Amino acid sequence: MTASDVQRGSSSSEPALPLAASANAFAPGRALRSAVKVLPEHARGHNRSLVLQTLFHRGAMSRADLARETGLTRVTISDLVAELIADAFVAEKGHREASGPGKPAILVDVDRTGHRIVGIDLSGSDVFIGAVLTLDGDIVARRETPHPPDAGEVLPAVIALARALVADAHAPVLGIGIGTPGVVDDRGVVLTAPNLGWAGFDLEGVLSEALGLPVLVANDANAAVLAEYTFGGAGDDVLLVKVGSGVGSGLLAGGQPMRGSRFAAGEIGHVTVGTDGGPACACGKVGCLEAWLSVPSLSARLAATGDADPDALSGVLRDAGERLGIALAPVVGALDLSEIVLSGPPELLGGVLAQATAEALRTRTLAPFHEGVRVRMTEQGQDIVLRGAAVMVLTARLGVS
Ligand SMILES: [Zn+2]
Repeated sequence: MTASDVQRGSSSSEPALPLAASANAFAPGRALRSAVKVLPEHARGHNRSLVLQTLFHRGAMSRADLARETGLTRVTISDLVAELIADAFVAEKGHREASGPGKPAILVDVDRTGHRIVGIDLSGSDVFIGAVLTLDGDIVARRETPHPPDAGEVLPAVIALARALVADAHAPVLGIGIGTPGVVDDRGVVLTAPNLGWAGFDLEGVLSEALGLPVLVANDANAAVLAEYTFGGAGDDVLLVKVGSGVGSGLLAGGQPMRGSRFAAGEIGHVTVGTDGGPACACGKVGCLEAWLSVPSLSARLAATGDADPDALSGVLRDAGERLGIALAPVVGALDLSEIVLSGPPELLGGVLAQATAEALRTRTLAPFHEGVRVRMTEQGQDIVLRGAAVMVLTARLGVS
């Protein structure tokens, strides 16, 4: 996945906004980077995104402050703010308290309640979950629907869930973001998602046609790392490991979402760890990371130790954490990552396992540079994919990340 994926426009009944390009050049906050060069004809869209990005992260300010923060002229800011107010993406928020002579300045801010975003997470093995979110990523309504047993019923279930959430929004919907298991290309085509029965399926195209709204589709772990970046304070060089029924990861390097040569960057679940065997994996190999670390695998091995032996229990978690560290050490070394974020059941991942991962990383990477690599649990909880799906929409529609 690349930033340009989430920044591309979508077919829509609403007018498409100009796409953001390289909004990080002098952005006050951070913005997902794009390799796209800013051409003169893109400057207005770029500036528009810069204004939105500044307000999104810094909050309400006067037009004069906005000019100072963005480096744009007062005239340009005045024009852009007028346009953004007309589009209902920015609103005036009253006057600043007077602190001297002269008229107190009018504050403007992103109209955080003027639009809603719909996020859907298809990665659960039992249920699909969805939410209506504010532009700040706060969840204001939730729904879920059972994962249908028959592959032919998956798409109708997703469409029905999306329609119900759009009806719950009670405000214009900026777009629908979807995190799905499997490998997804940069046009939102699900190349393979065996759990959902999809192969080469244009989920983004089919859904935007059915729903009449912009739809963005990405792999669930790739969505999750976006949530960590925008709402979780992650740095520009971060790997998020998502542990559920499988194991996947999402990766940002230099603030750029990594997609890979076949859109499968981050698919670390079936990397075998070590040459000393290990648990058998469903894929037919032995010692895959997923066979050490997935929730079903961890739960089965914990159950096999018997609850009475705390040493054996923590031994299972320590082994899994160490294997994760062994698998990640070359990635940390190659990309000079600053942070590994774990997403999944905190009771399994949060304690001994995360410590063992950090320890294995410390002993297997270059001491002066990588010994400070943090390994931590996400604070986004179960909503991480929903919130990441919202970031996909924010970035594609507003150039905000
Ligand atoms: Zn495997």
